[in-house]
Amino acid sequence: MREVITTCTRDCPNACGLIARVEGGKVVSLAGDPRHPVCRGMACRKCAAFVQRVYSPERVVTPL
Ligand code: SF4
Repeated sequence: MREVITTCTRDCPNACGLIARVEGGKVVSLAGDPRHPVCRGMACRKCAAFVQRVYSPERVVTPL
């Protein structure tokens, strides 16, 4: 498993820093980066659902 430092992509003024844990090429978890001055290690509920959403079989990935 490796950790990737990233940021939240939502249009939100907090611009939280995140740590993505990646295993076998897939993100397995997202957590707030404790070094980020706003989130201080917390990941909000919207962000916590990113992993579930991105791999959902119901996600629209091509134009309909
Ligand atoms: S993690 Fe939540 S609070 Fe932070 S920037 Fe994203 S949406 Fe906003």
